[in-house]
Amino acid sequence: MEQIIPFNKPHITGKEVHYIYDAVASGHISGNGKYTKLCQSFFEERFGFKRALLTTSCTDALEMCALLLDIKAGDEVIIPSYTFVSTALAFVRQGAKIVFADSRSDHPGMDEERIEELITAKTKVIVPVHYAGVSCDMAKIMTLANKYNLFVVEDAAQGIDSYYINTDGTKAALGSIGHLAAFSFHETKNIQSGEGGLLAINDERFIKRAEIIWEKGTNRAEFFRGEVNKYGWVDTGSSFLPSEVTAAFLWAQLEELDLIQEKRILLWNTYFSAFTNSDLREVRLPSIPHYATVNGHMFYLVCNNEEVRSGLISKLKRDTIHSVFHYLSLHSSPYYKDKYIGKELVNSDKYSQAIVRLPLFFDLSVMDVELVLKKVKEFVK
Ligand SMILES: *Cc1c(COP(=O)(O)O)cnc(C)c1O
Repeated sequence: MEQIIPFNKPHITGKEVHYIYDAVASGHISGNGKYTKLCQSFFEERFGFKRALLTTSCTDALEMCALLLDIKAGDEVIIPSYTFVSTALAFVRQGAKIVFADSRSDHPGMDEERIEELITAKTKVIVPVHYAGVSCDMAKIMTLANKYNLFVVEDAAQGIDSYYINTDGTKAALGSIGHLAAFSFHETKNIQSGEGGLLAINDERFIKRAEIIWEKGTNRAEFFRGEVNKYGWVDTGSSFLPSEVTAAFLWAQLEELDLIQEKRILLWNTYFSAFTNSDLREVRLPSIPHYATVNGHMFYLVCNNEEVRSGLISKLKRDTIHSVFHYLSLHSSPYYKDKYIGKELVNSDKYSQAIVRLPLFFDLSVMDVELVLKKVKEFVK
């Protein structure tokens, strides 16, 4: 029987259960214990965030951003339409008006050249999404934010261990550039804890309040540091922190971050280098801007149209290979389409119809990738 190649399979390093056992045996299984602190310090030291707070999801980290920035009814937030629901939802829940930006023609990320025309007196935030872990042009976005006094929240859900390359060749980790950033450890991401996320804070003005919002609007963190002698309700907030069980799981993954990244990038490169664009006919390779690195989060192909994509997905399915399409533009979604009053977003809609994602996960072998490639080549020939 032919082997089935799934689209994704969460990687288990083997140490997760060991650390969870340790957390349980220690008697501290609620949040903000030893493993939460280990993970947070790891992120701060390795990626240069001023403060890192684990959250129960990236969705939650984005909701914290909307609270921290005091987003209110009438505020405008610029986000790409080609993204996951949570990018918009966090701000919609605060009553914000979402101003959807189109994708670039060469890449699904938001078109940096078209942001300025969307800015009004009510604009408060720009939310770039680093699709597939490939950086947006952060220099351009930060320049705009400075010019109009806006905040930047990076949706770095897919962006762990990926970088923006400055003009002088130095690199800045995704999530370390905007005022705030959110990461995901959902089981479909490079590093996972089933469900999980991280708020990265780069603007120090937000640190103290973030700790309060994180722990149900209380100043519990200050209390445990001995800075106040009792703690109580001081602000808005929610229960955004994960338990130590989740943090212990995540710690096992972080210990193997380099190994995981090396393998994923190897698989990504195997896909990417198997084609020259001329082999591909009705399909093209992802384009990686010169200022962006690849973190092996996702490998996709861009089909000429929806029919080609359906054909490719069906062909792979017959060969027991599971490939999937990706986002439906948010401005055309059932929840939003009647509320949307902006322009047509041609590139977002194009990517909604054109992208096919191929299997890419740690336990996939180079041989498996070669089999997928062989089948894709049969289709495009
Ligand atoms: C996965 C993802 C999210 C949501 O992450 P959760 O941890 O599942 O809440 C948000 N934005 C983008 C771009 C994502 O890929």
